[in-house]
Amino acid sequence: MKNTIVEFDEPIFVTRPLMPELNEVVEKLKEVWDAKWLTNNGKQHQSLEDKLMDYLKVPSLSLFNNGTIALIIACQSLRISGEVITTPFTFAATPHILAWNDINPIFCDIDPLTMNIDPDKIESMITPKTTAILGVHVFGTPCDVFKIQEIANQYGLKVIYDAAHAFGVEVDGKGIGNFGDITMFSFHATKLFHTAEGGALTYGDKHLKNRIDLLKNFGIKNENEVVMPGINGKMNEMQASLGLVVLDLVEEERIKREKIRCLYRELLSEIEGISFVPELEGVKSSLQYFPIRINENKFGKSRDFVYEELKKYNIFTRKYFYPLCSDYPCYSQLPSASSYNLPNSHQVVKEILTLPFFGDLDLDKVESICEILKVIKIR
Ligand SMILES: *Cc1c(COP(=O)(O)O)cnc(C)c1O
Repeated sequence: MKNTIVEFDEPIFVTRPLMPELNEVVEKLKEVWDAKWLTNNGKQHQSLEDKLMDYLKVPSLSLFNNGTIALIIACQSLRISGEVITTPFTFAATPHILAWNDINPIFCDIDPLTMNIDPDKIESMITPKTTAILGVHVFGTPCDVFKIQEIANQYGLKVIYDAAHAFGVEVDGKGIGNFGDITMFSFHATKLFHTAEGGALTYGDKHLKNRIDLLKNFGIKNENEVVMPGINGKMNEMQASLGLVVLDLVEEERIKREKIRCLYRELLSEIEGISFVPELEGVKSSLQYFPIRINENKFGKSRDFVYEELKKYNIFTRKYFYPLCSDYPCYSQLPSASSYNLPNSHQVVKEILTLPFFGDLDLDKVESICEILKVIKIR
């Protein structure tokens, strides 16, 4: 018996890509066909770069075929090597891009509330080999960008941010892509703004553009000169066209998601043992995910139990980011990966659950999801 609550007829997933009207995409693609130009800095690519610089309020931006390649190139463009201090509570791409650059990730514990790298613990992880800090604005909550910059200045370190969850985030009206040396955005289909696959780097130092754009195009400077060992990180015209059409839908999607977020918070705040990601003052939210934390002692059931139970109702949540990156076999032998070094990360990773969150999720479905959570708690 599941009380009066029944499961959904159709599965509800944690997210759904923003799908523009097909004819609008086709309309845009006609321009590409007419130009007979499919990649290598075409018109759509240039147009999307301009529009994103505007939207993200950043002085310079380079587009990429995905966010992971963009991050790899961010390290290359700043000539980062040795050791980089980062967080274990992130998507696999973050530590992996260090490994692909022959850099050792050094895992630093997270703040128990924001779930971002804890600036007060960074200094103790610095060694003579440290060259940079790689922070992640997890779930769109900005890292403590001011404290991190202070530490970086003091020790002569570079700062890179993984802002894959932080599209449109602003701190006191300033675009999140303005902090640190370079910031990466991902435009993967699961992100609020997307180009199916894609990404971008933003940076304050305009002189970096030349090097970054060379690195994403094999290091080819002109017909006669190849000046560095670059890779192929170019966004093509189909991706850029899709992005231009999707970008027009972002504001409306944000309004819908804002309503869903409000309703979730209102209905779930009554439930003991469920808490939310803090909303920081002066921060414009990314509305990328709706994660909750389930405190097993107070809620009476574990996160894993809730996750499994929800599946029975056709609700497919995600345990972002389980497992911790420091527990992957490729990193677990590192001294910084020991659980003794990462107590907050280990606590958070047991509690986090990301609920379905996308603009087309009906409000009555949100109500049902909240009701089901209550049923799971008392059953
Ligand atoms: C999505 C994501 C990435 C990877 O971006 P891709 O565009 O898929 O390569 C990196 N870091 C985080 C935190 C992400 O969520």
